[in-house]
Amino acid sequence: MTKRTHRPAPNVAHPGEGELRAYLDGELPPFGAMRVVLHTRRCHACAHVVGELRALDARTTSLLADLQRAVPIVRRGS
Ligand SMILES: [Zn+2]
Repeated sequence: MTKRTHRPAPNVAHPGEGELRAYLDGELPPFGAMRVVLHTRRCHACAHVVGELRALDARTTSLLADLQRAVPIVRRGS
């Protein structure tokens, strides 16, 4: 019986989408951000998710900018 222990390190848990979002928003503490960076360097699945979230984020930002240019910002109260 051969031992098959070739697996990704068990302590490498995938960060959740919430954590990846927080990372992109710069809301993670330095250690958390570093963990995500190191993880995505090795994990293509998570790097892909980060890439998609980043692209989505850029699109949302540019759409919002377009919207604000097209529609004057709603003024609050008086
Ligand atoms: Zn991962």
